[in-house]
Amino acid sequence: MDSYSLPNDPEQVIEADRAHVWHHLVQHKPFETIDPRIIVEGKGLRLWDIKGKEHIDAVAGGVWTVNVGYGRERIGKAIADQVTKMCFFGGTMGTIPAATFAEMLTAKMPGLDRVYYANSGSEANEKAFKMVRQISQKHYGGKKHKILYRDRDYHGTTIAALSAGGQDDRNAHYGPFAPGFVRVPHCLEYRSQDGSTGEAYGEKSAQMIEDVILAEGPDTIGALCLEPITAGGGIIVPPEGYWPRVQEICRKYDILLHIDEVVCGFGRTGTWFGYQHFGIEPDFVTMAKGVASGYAAISCCVTSNRVFEMFKDDTDKMSYFRDISTFGGCTGGPAAAIENMKIIEEEDLVANSAAMGDHLMGRLSELMDKHAWIGDIRGKGLFAGAELVRDRDTKEPIDEKYTAAIVADCMAQGVIIGGTNRSVPGFNNTLLFAPALIATKDDLDQVVAAVDKAIGRVLG
Ligand code: PLP
Repeated sequence: MDSYSLPNDPEQVIEADRAHVWHHLVQHKPFETIDPRIIVEGKGLRLWDIKGKEHIDAVAGGVWTVNVGYGRERIGKAIADQVTKMCFFGGTMGTIPAATFAEMLTAKMPGLDRVYYANSGSEANEKAFKMVRQISQKHYGGKKHKILYRDRDYHGTTIAALSAGGQDDRNAHYGPFAPGFVRVPHCLEYRSQDGSTGEAYGEKSAQMIEDVILAEGPDTIGALCLEPITAGGGIIVPPEGYWPRVQEICRKYDILLHIDEVVCGFGRTGTWFGYQHFGIEPDFVTMAKGVASGYAAISCCVTSNRVFEMFKDDTDKMSYFRDISTFGGCTGGPAAAIENMKIIEEEDLVANSAAMGDHLMGRLSELMDKHAWIGDIRGKGLFAGAELVRDRDTKEPIDEKYTAAIVADCMAQGVIIGGTNRSVPGFNNTLLFAPALIATKDDLDQVVAAVDKAIGRVLG
């Protein structure tokens, strides 16, 4: 624990937090009797809390963000150097790090050329939605304004992003939502809607999208927004045959394809971007978490030149993208992102994610042999899920209180894993793993050993 140092008065910090901080996604009633957990320091995959307890973090900052791991001094220094020299100017003018990072990023994404900067995943998605709406107004006389999204996908927390949200437990209490968002069915083979499997299911689930398009009217649909691999909805890797058909359908009906890489980007799934597993050519790619691994708040909406050109028209004073985000692209963000990307490249972390992901899946399948509670395991790269069921034949999901208890048991053992949590009604039964891309076999073995114990203790 050489890097760990306690603050002078931990109790004072805990009391200040208890009295004044409203934590995200947390019921605060229990904090009347138990202490909120406060994280103080991190190094690599390890974290220390304010009471000195060491944790191994298998979810990269809780929400799959810190892809290069904690304690990267060179990112901190790059931010400090940049903001000392030039901290901020609104996005109407360029800056050196914003231009440099945009060039580095688009070099990884053949066919995509333009980077629109923002601050969060929700906001990046909102930019794409606004672009689709403006394209509809400018080029289709208001037709093609609808945006399709998929059951079990998530695109963010704002009202517009929730309107495109396929996780009803997240949406509960926040309606009414924005009009013009239409849901298509999920593509989780384990929960196949008609019992078909493999490539047949892949084609069937793409066909279900086409059915919605035909029912709505193709001339009303502007874009299809999908996660390449569904994250919080339960780690859903689309089946064989799905993506080629989805691409074909988009081309057939002139529908823009928006891929939400907020989670899957930056090596998480063993390729630079999740969509690159499937050979598809999106029109928009949005990204956030891994862009700067949480060292700075930065997100990007990356588009093709085809999309960009639709906004160029100096004969029409309303044709440019009339959107602004005060902090979008401000200099510390791209400075951090440049350094983050260099680290991923220098340390070959995309390849490590692929190789260690195979190791993790191997260890999870051993766990599946041992615990009949595990009905399905799925994932790609260092991004994996284990779906828990009461019975493998009926596939009845375990109650979410058991998912939470397993996560809590691991936490007590000093291992932080995730679990689908109040997202998809009835299906908050998947354990989630997404450690920093520097994870070793030894780290992953420790994580799986803790999960093994926790499942045994909680479910027997
Ligand atoms: N898109 C996906 C796939 C996500 O998982 C998330 C957040 O978890 C978001 C968008 C929203 O990102 P943010 O919380 O940065 O707004």
